[in-house]
Amino acid sequence: MMPVRRDFVFDPDAPLLEARDVKVTIGGTEILSGADLTLEAGELLAIIGPNGAGKSTFARALCGLRRPTSGMVRWSGVKLSRLKGRDLARLRAFVPQRAQVPNGVTVADAVRIGRSAHLKPLQGFSAEDHEAIESSLVRARMKGFEDRLLSTLSGGEMQRVQVAVGLAQGAPVLVADEPTAQLDLGATAAVSKLLRRLVADGLGVLLIVHDLALAAAVADRIVVMSEGRTIATGDPLDVLTSQLISDVWGVEAELVRHQGRSGLHVEWLEGGPTGGN
Ligand code: ADP
Ligand code: MG
Repeated sequence: MMPVRRDFVFDPDAPLLEARDVKVTIGGTEILSGADLTLEAGELLAIIGPNGAGKSTFARALCGLRRPTSGMVRWSGVKLSRLKGRDLARLRAFVPQRAQVPNGVTVADAVRIGRSAHLKPLQGFSAEDHEAIESSLVRARMKGFEDRLLSTLSGGEMQRVQVAVGLAQGAPVLVADEPTAQLDLGATAAVSKLLRRLVADGLGVLLIVHDLALAAAVADRIVVMSEGRTIATGDPLDVLTSQLISDVWGVEAELVRHQGRSGLHVEWLEGGPTGGN
């Protein structure tokens, strides 16, 4: 068997993911006009911002799913442009907002497909691959669901399968684009706890989310995006001031955190809930 030859070396001291001044132009329109972030192992970084701010475009550019027009993206010190599909699959798993659900595919099939980035040409799964598949199901709390068709799962179960598929890739970074956007409160909490457990295990998690209160509750750090740019980064409570929320979302609100609970106090109507002017 020929060894895989690579003309790059990962730097163990470099951040897992680093992006500087990333720009993306689509059809002559600049969608991303300057986005930065750094993600380390063992941290959950949330990208937040209003609808249309460019969060998904940034995430896809970072993951090599859309080519940046300019700027720098490095995975463990290696330029994104030098990484091929299989290298990328081993560096990051991407969990889309709504996964495609092909007919007749079971949970076990989906997780095996996630692992296939590790397969050598014309070889089946090794004992190590089977172990990785099993452990991904356990960590995503999807044991017992192996034979279920994806089409029969609830939204929350489906998102946990997507995480299991990502884990089976064995990548040190999980990027999830609005994984809870379609979920109810209970399922959102379950996915949030799952992501936190992965971070405790040493993964770097990049969570794209439009819910400020959720981001503030689950993230170690946040990056705020507005109109195609990253405009602030840091500890959620430091960054999400009432002034910034007003500037970016145009809403009067205050973020509060108390004894492990976090909430967004929003002035929904002018002059309070009765709307009396
Ligand atoms: P977010 O995820 O923050 O809601 P997106 O990254 O999806 O934002 O989109 C940012 C902006 O780019 C939006 O105005 C969107 O309409 C536009 N956009 C995204 N993808 C494309 C595309 N393929 N072609 C044209 N415009 C796009
Ligand atoms: Mg989006």
